[in-house]
Amino acid sequence: MAPDPAVLAADLAEAGIEAVVFTYVDNAGVARVKGVPTGRLAPASKHGVGMSPVFDAFVADDSITSSPSAGGPVGDLRLIPDLRRLVALAAQPGLAWVPVDRRSQTGDPHPQCQRQFATRLVERAASRGITMQMGFEIEFILARSTDDELVPATVAPAYGANRLVELGDFSVELLRALRLEGVEVLQLHPEYAPGQFEVSTAPRDPVHAADDSVLVRQTIRGVTARHGLAVTFSPAVEVGGVGNGAHLHFGIHQGKQNLLAGGRGTHGMTSDGEAFLAGVLDALPALLAIGAPSVASYQRLVPQHWAAPYVCWGKENREAALRLVTGEAGAEQHDANAEVKVFDATANPYLVVGAVIACGLDGIDRQLRLPAETTTDPATLDAAARPERLPTSLDVAVETFSRSDVLRDALGNALFETIIAVRHAEIARFAGASPDEIVASTRWRH
Ligand code: GLU
Ligand code: MG
Repeated sequence: MAPDPAVLAADLAEAGIEAVVFTYVDNAGVARVKGVPTGRLAPASKHGVGMSPVFDAFVADDSITSSPSAGGPVGDLRLIPDLRRLVALAAQPGLAWVPVDRRSQTGDPHPQCQRQFATRLVERAASRGITMQMGFEIEFILARSTDDELVPATVAPAYGANRLVELGDFSVELLRALRLEGVEVLQLHPEYAPGQFEVSTAPRDPVHAADDSVLVRQTIRGVTARHGLAVTFSPAVEVGGVGNGAHLHFGIHQGKQNLLAGGRGTHGMTSDGEAFLAGVLDALPALLAIGAPSVASYQRLVPQHWAAPYVCWGKENREAALRLVTGEAGAEQHDANAEVKVFDATANPYLVVGAVIACGLDGIDRQLRLPAETTTDPATLDAAARPERLPTSLDVAVETFSRSDVLRDALGNALFETIIAVRHAEIARFAGASPDEIVASTRWRH
């Protein structure tokens, strides 16, 4: 149940909150905001806050493109906050945060609202008795500054204990902030690349998981700023280096039954569980236009960089685009889930969760079967045995996406076309750019 806005506003004011930040994530994956003084929260909840529909056509560099259904200066949308998700931002004292749905001035859902798209797909799954639980792993690199040369904020080795010494205060403050915000953290750990860390959060209803991914990044940015550091979530941070992923974990249940455990299929998958995974795997080349939506994304998606750029699946195979995670023996009913490794944080998380559900349900409709499991590093297989490589450029991913009836149907024509227009603008922006230029221009945008 959503809290009463007037009561909530009074509580926030008493807690010293000056303003509430309404966050909307655009098709280029950039979180954009409008702030409302706390005293205006009640009317702003009822009527929303105005924002131009032109934001549908925004590109990551703040240029504006157009599609048949987006891009003009005319019109207004209302940002309606989801007050169930409002939290005081622990790393930005005095501010609270809330995600929004976008509606027309007459109160109808905006057909291109990404968050309502995700909600619709959750409902579509529910109408078939399927509930999904999702969570993002958020990788990021801490740097000394946003200067051109990237100097990592720690010199300690990959996964090194010393990273948690050099950045001990940062880590504790981040964990505390997330706890105060009600985000359930599963792990915080140093990652492979210089200065890299990862936060993973507990599985949630998919829309909530997407909200969490926005909130967690806002909080990481807040704690980083308090320490005089800079943070990048970009898929490619140094040319040739290991990048930042935003892997998506998802569990599929029907009633109490985990569809990825206790069945008669491979590794205990049920028939529908396998069909769901097969639908996602089959659509993965098209899904990249949603989940790896930047030109820079394709610098990350190279073999043997733990980004898993092959169309294959495998139990606990970290070089497989789709990894089946069964968990501890005996706890499969509780733990079994799947992980899509290829996505990154330049993606709009609402589009990601909705699109994955759409493709999984399509897999169930078509009762698809998974191909043979890949049990080794696909890059080491002979050409004949090696699984197909995922698109190696945004152009190819968008071309594949534009042919996907499943995604067009799920997103609706208007949103589908606008996403394509934004991707084309992103591609045009980097036409002729060197890998260094692409990395440098993407580093601090998301
Ligand atoms: N940093 C890797 C990526 O780009 C992932 C490392 C891991 O397996 O967690 O996705
Ligand atoms: Mg990781």
